[in-house]
Amino acid sequence: MVKANRENRSKFLKVKCPDCENEQLVFDKATSVVECTVCGRVLTEPTGGKAIIKADVIASFE
Ligand SMILES: [Zn+2]
Repeated sequence: MVKANRENRSKFLKVKCPDCENEQLVFDKATSVVECTVCGRVLTEPTGGKAIIKADVIASFE
């Protein structure tokens, strides 16, 4: 279902929002804050490298 992107080495993570249980894909090196598309809770926060994941990671895709 999710196609790996070979042009960069980052991963996609499937996360579940702790507040509303919405599942969505986020990039593990997201450079901006990613919010839940349903309730707006912050799911990832950018750092210099890997994003801080503030949701439950349920799967990852290389
Ligand atoms: Zn949510």
